[in-house]
Amino acid sequence: MNFVANIGLEVHVQLKTRTKIFCGCPTTFGAPPNTRVCPVCLGYPGAMPAMNSEAIRLTVFSGLMLGCKINPYSKMDRKNYYYPDMPKNYQISQYDQPLCLGGGIEIKLADGSKKMIGLTRIHIEEDVGKNMHFAASSGIDFNRAGTPLMEIVTEPDIASADEALAFLEALKEILAYGGVSDVNLEEGNLRCDVNSSVRPVGQDKLGTKTELKNMNTFKGVYRALSYEITRQISELEKGGRIRQETRRWDDLAGVTLAMRSKEEAHDYRYFPEPDLLPIVLTPAQIDDWARALPELPENRRARMMRDYGIPEYDANVLAVDQAVANYFEATAKLSKSAKSASNWIMTTVLAKLTEQHLAIGELKITPAQLASLVNLVEVKIINISTAKEVFEIMFAQGGEPEEIVKAKGLAQVSDTGAIEKFVDEAIAANAKTVADYKGGKEAALKALIGQVMKLSKGKANPGLVNDLLKRKLS
Ligand SMILES: [Zn+2]
Repeated sequence: MNFVANIGLEVHVQLKTRTKIFCGCPTTFGAPPNTRVCPVCLGYPGAMPAMNSEAIRLTVFSGLMLGCKINPYSKMDRKNYYYPDMPKNYQISQYDQPLCLGGGIEIKLADGSKKMIGLTRIHIEEDVGKNMHFAASSGIDFNRAGTPLMEIVTEPDIASADEALAFLEALKEILAYGGVSDVNLEEGNLRCDVNSSVRPVGQDKLGTKTELKNMNTFKGVYRALSYEITRQISELEKGGRIRQETRRWDDLAGVTLAMRSKEEAHDYRYFPEPDLLPIVLTPAQIDDWARALPELPENRRARMMRDYGIPEYDANVLAVDQAVANYFEATAKLSKSAKSASNWIMTTVLAKLTEQHLAIGELKITPAQLASLVNLVEVKIINISTAKEVFEIMFAQGGEPEEIVKAKGLAQVSDTGAIEKFVDEAIAANAKTVADYKGGKEAALKALIGQVMKLSKGKANPGLVNDLLKRKLS
């Protein structure tokens, strides 16, 4: 029997606000434990929350980027449960009237086709504290408590671990483009709960699902799902059944393990948060935010391919990061060849930045300077290997490529007279190679070109050398 999987994700994204969702404490990461706290985010009885309007704007902005319907009226609710990282015993979240409904993300599949993954809703809520376990004791750090989170819930449209990964990468890219989150996985900016089930092909009803909670790496989601789908299928093939339960991913062992049964589903006794007003958005307000929407990654890729004539591969590499895409466009506009500009950035620039652990914003080379370098090669003033040398100098110290070429005497020799001298010298010194070439060995010409380049210290124009050698030896 063949099976299909249905996977749904609940992605928690930390919003990029300066302060927490209901108080003025800063959201800075990495401060000493319990130094970014106040009675509100510590959950003291009677402390009054005040809504951070920037958290609402960022969530609505995300909803607009993801094609959601924005609810003109939504409200906050209390989700009641007892847990040490939430001392007031409820989390302020949104229940039946979230900020955004519907929408979706189109993902690209391995075979090149596209698939739309639908979204159910997006709501906002507060993050909880962090349990810390030490050798002899445990503690709770409340710095994270009250950090604004946006929860993005998908429909069970995802059919494989590959699709889940493609979805998460596309989502991360869009959120980064919109500037709504730092989407830094190491700092826990993006965590997700993964629901999965399998059903026989031809059966419409979804199978029983299991849940993996708090996954904080994409690789973990991918591996856990690959394991879990296979486990569920083999369980059913053996004639067993899937229990509705929460499972834990053991990254080291590479397996999922049962944690707790979901048979007694939690009743959170949601009720409207009495200390916060409902959120009412006017059409004018939503339109105002919509005007600031960025060009989305997929649209930008298509436009870059159209405007600069670069291949899809290049567009994919360059548009992964908005800053890189901006840098490319600024360089390409001033370059005689946009494809050469793309090659320089994709290979040399990005490799060098990775090697030195630098962001593109820290590069000492301006787009105009890189374009000048590209153009020096295009008009054959320097060849590509000299250009790489010039690039190294520019990368380390900055500076105008023309001036570096001039100061170091790197300009390519295109003076026929000067090259002719080197050609004659090479012919005189390599009688055997010359004889090989005349005897029909085409490869011998390459060796002779190499000799001339060596005599000119790499500065001869290789095209001219080739022409001159051929003429003299014919
Ligand atoms: Zn606080």
